[in-house]
Amino acid sequence: MAAANDRLGSSFLKIFKHPASSYGGYDYTFVDGDPPSNYICLICTLVSRDPHQVSCCYNIYCKSCLDKHRKKNSRNGTFRCPACRELLDLRSYFKDGRMEREIKALKVQCTIEECDWKGTIGDIEAHVMACPYRMVDCSLGCGEKICCREMETHLRDCPKRIVSCQYCKDGGPHDIITSSAHLDECRSYPIKCSNEGCEFIEERFWFKYHQKRCPKAIVYCEYSNLGCDELIKREEQEKHNEEFSKEHLQMAIKQVDSLQTKCTCSSSSKVFKTSGYKMMLCVYANGYGRGKGTHMSCYTVLVPGEYDDVLGWPFEGEVTVELLNQNEDRNHKKLIIKYDDSTPKDCKERVTKTMSERWGKDRFIAHSAPEFKGIEYGFLGPRYFRVSARVTSKTKPWLV
Ligand SMILES: [Zn+2]
Ligand SMILES: [Zn+2]
Ligand SMILES: [Zn+2]
Ligand SMILES: [Zn+2]
Ligand SMILES: [Zn+2]
Ligand SMILES: [Zn+2]
Ligand SMILES: [Zn+2]
Repeated sequence: MAAANDRLGSSFLKIFKHPASSYGGYDYTFVDGDPPSNYICLICTLVSRDPHQVSCCYNIYCKSCLDKHRKKNSRNGTFRCPACRELLDLRSYFKDGRMEREIKALKVQCTIEECDWKGTIGDIEAHVMACPYRMVDCSLGCGEKICCREMETHLRDCPKRIVSCQYCKDGGPHDIITSSAHLDECRSYPIKCSNEGCEFIEERFWFKYHQKRCPKAIVYCEYSNLGCDELIKREEQEKHNEEFSKEHLQMAIKQVDSLQTKCTCSSSSKVFKTSGYKMMLCVYANGYGRGKGTHMSCYTVLVPGEYDDVLGWPFEGEVTVELLNQNEDRNHKKLIIKYDDSTPKDCKERVTKTMSERWGKDRFIAHSAPEFKGIEYGFLGPRYFRVSARVTSKTKPWLV
């Protein structure tokens, strides 16, 4: 093959990539032995192409060889014959038509070694253009050079042949359709459930629905928010509930207890969650601390929550408490409770039992103020508080 390539690289390219006139004679393998020496161009030493005879010594040259020699060596329109050194000019050489006919009738072999074509110089150029052994670019553009004879076979295996995906039936080049680039996305590619004991297989598109309800998936007990940290197979939840009914109940009672202990405020205290933190609003209608007897006091406290492990501590942020004015949607009595550097540690650090120290305002609303009177008259009550919070301590984004 290397030999064939060499030949392609020399004579083949010489003939087809460049105009024949800028190159010399015919560089072929002659079938009937060496051609007569008088056909040989004295410049390129090959069989002359478009043979021209000089008037001085009657030697033969390819026209292109002579033209090139003249252009290179011409002084005042004259140049010297490469053989006999006579002075020549443009009119001193002539086409030898008879010799050209004889040369064109010489029998040569195809330049491609594998090809056994034999024919005349006159015919070989046309043959080489159509030679079944010539190398051409793959017609599907895979980038390979293919021997023309093998093109058909190649196209059946060419990585760029158009096929359809065996799963989703989409069409495309074989190398793309069978690559992980497609198969990792293919909506119909069969996915087998990886949960132990589950034999479920489904097309990728539908598989996600199975994942959410696979009976063999290991999940947290549905009472994890009460503190049950059992990991069970989804299908075993019911059985687990039966076995753990007592524990679940105890957890529930404990949680309610923990929320209620210690808060001695007069209202029904309100538990709320903000970005995962669990808090409670405590309102003392008759006052607490410096507000006792004269004011309504208002505080927030932190209580244990199920995300405390992953939350940032101390708690930082702002809780806005508004006593809503029922009669008009403005003039709400507002209290902003800031949890920052000035907040005592006991008020903002994580608690595991009961609750943190209260943080808020002893003298929120004077008993003489209209808002407070409103409460007395039943227009506004603790259940009309609106609580909103903005958390600035670091939390997990999925809890926001
Ligand atoms: Zn001469
Ligand atoms: Zn020549
Ligand atoms: Zn050939
Ligand atoms: Zn190809
Ligand atoms: Zn597919
Ligand atoms: Zn499954
Ligand atoms: Zn459980």
